[in-house]
Amino acid sequence: MSSEKQILSSESESSWTIEDSENLYRIEGWGDPYFGINAAGHVTVSPRGDRGGSLDLLELVQALRQRNIGLPLLLRFSDILEDRIERLNACFAKAIARYGYNGTYRGVFPVKCNQQRHLIADLIQFGQPHQFGLEAGSKPELLIALAMLTTPSSTTLPGPLLICNGYKDRGYIETAILARRLGHTPIIVLEQPEEVSLVIQASQTLGVSPILGIRAKLSAQGVGRWGTSAGDRAKFGLTIPEILAAVAQLRQAGMLDALQLLHFHIGSQISAISVIKDALREAGQIYGELVRLGANMAYLDVGGGLGVDYDGSKTNFHASKNYSMQNYASDVVAEIKEACAERNIPVPTLISESGRAIASHQSVLIFDVLGTSNVPTRIPEAAESQEHLIIRNLYETYQGIDVHNYQEAYNDALQFKNEAISLFNFGYLGLQERGRAESLFWACCAKILAIARQQDYVPDDLEDLEKIMASIYYINLSVFQSVPDSWAIDQLFPIMPIHRLDQEPTERGILADLTCDSDGKIDQFIDLRDVKSVLELHALEAGQPYYLGLFLNGAYQEIMGNLHNLFGDTNAVHIRLTPKGYQIEHLVRGDTMQEVLSYVQYEATSLLENIRRRTEQALAEQQITLEEAQHFLENYERSLRSYTYLVNPA
Ligand SMILES: *Cc1c(COP(=O)(O)O)cnc(C)c1O
Repeated sequence: MSSEKQILSSESESSWTIEDSENLYRIEGWGDPYFGINAAGHVTVSPRGDRGGSLDLLELVQALRQRNIGLPLLLRFSDILEDRIERLNACFAKAIARYGYNGTYRGVFPVKCNQQRHLIADLIQFGQPHQFGLEAGSKPELLIALAMLTTPSSTTLPGPLLICNGYKDRGYIETAILARRLGHTPIIVLEQPEEVSLVIQASQTLGVSPILGIRAKLSAQGVGRWGTSAGDRAKFGLTIPEILAAVAQLRQAGMLDALQLLHFHIGSQISAISVIKDALREAGQIYGELVRLGANMAYLDVGGGLGVDYDGSKTNFHASKNYSMQNYASDVVAEIKEACAERNIPVPTLISESGRAIASHQSVLIFDVLGTSNVPTRIPEAAESQEHLIIRNLYETYQGIDVHNYQEAYNDALQFKNEAISLFNFGYLGLQERGRAESLFWACCAKILAIARQQDYVPDDLEDLEKIMASIYYINLSVFQSVPDSWAIDQLFPIMPIHRLDQEPTERGILADLTCDSDGKIDQFIDLRDVKSVLELHALEAGQPYYLGLFLNGAYQEIMGNLHNLFGDTNAVHIRLTPKGYQIEHLVRGDTMQEVLSYVQYEATSLLENIRRRTEQALAEQQITLEEAQHFLENYERSLRSYTYLVNPA
């Protein structure tokens, strides 16, 4: 154990400070103002941002475990959600005041980003002062929005908007139109040419006139991962000729005054502000043209795309963004004001469909490490003269490694190791000797890596060494269920230990999940420049839990997660700050095995019956004792009612 340390860790642990951890995990970059580190070396959460109050994340997790709430665990901080809504509205309010914009902002939350009922209910409540509405992208989301959104009483403000996007059939359109009778303000956004005649028919049949919008396919393209959401070949939206045809069709039906909104969405996580500006300029012109064509324009909906700085680098890297929320709001307001001033037309009510920027920060995923697998790096015994030449060569290489030759030594060691394997394959080396050769090779690698880490510049051929030498940390989590975008599109999320941050993390690891799928791992981590292939972690302490947190995961992850290997939903807890501390508002228990099995049509009672019959048979054949049979059945039954993840003592 201690000799392993001798090769790799050169700095003394006592000099490590909390500031070192802050810098290493870049917590200020991505976490400000919600996440920080306290003097105890634990991550803290300040759910109300700069407005005071903070919780020790480790203490919170311990308190929840005492309530028998197991890991992995999703913590949702309602106050963060409120703070994000406040911030977005404040940014638009500030921009509107600064530019003397003669209109308002009425944002909507895209339900697809996180449909969980408790979250949507919170969102509607927190959004009320700002008439913050919802955006539905499908029929089921429309049903959520209609039932959850409040409608204004006649004396109050105009009330929240309900933007209706996505593919629509007659049923969708009729429901949306009739919702006006309930006092809702649904705006049906035409995304496909066929929807125009459907809407005209439905409104004529029902005798209710709709409020309509048009989604334009802009030629301004997003960049990066979601870049294809715009452009001529985008899935949604009308091209300019299609927009002109829709206007003509509506005019002919005497419904042109229903057309009031222009919408565009150029993709999610737009990392460069220049892309947003280009889109705004193009949309501003189209808006002006629609006014000129006689539409009753009143709203401009700039869609989603407001980014989240996952790596805290403030760059146009895909995991970051090179602008602030205030920059974004200011650009939307300024560009549209200018476009309208040029044509001398009234400015529209501004809408954004910001999902990621509202929902990401409020949730934190906590999970524990089950164990690690380390590359063995003991200091090797000296090679004896009677040992095979290849082993003596490897030992000599090991001994000779220094700061001047470490790159050359790496190539030598690699070559000798490959030769040793060839010799083994041809029968010239026994298994013992091959084991000795491999151990020597790892010892060389460890020594070289310790030197390479001290250098400012690491040669390319040594970069893989970190990966080769990385420890594997086995985590009590399914990447497919809880961080699907990490698996599907290599999205980066900040991940760090939530405690021991006053100690130096001496290990370098990748994370391997519970599924028996080799893709179930996380081996890319945020870094100031680009990404890093290993994460700095602490060595496990016997009998002590080691908790990691994955942050900024409140958007898209929960609903996209899947049941690979039948790992179900995790436990989720809603936390609200109180003057005295915090309060658990809701506990949403994760799936039991019985529940996930029912998703694939296995009924618990018939499974149990089957098992019971088999034990009876085994009893009859005297293969099992009555006691064993009872024990087995009890375990089976208890499992059906329990969590799908592993249970570790707190
Ligand atoms: C997904 C989506 C959004 C949300 O985008 P974010 O980048 O999460 O803000 C908004 N509008 C439409 C039409 C979408 O498809």
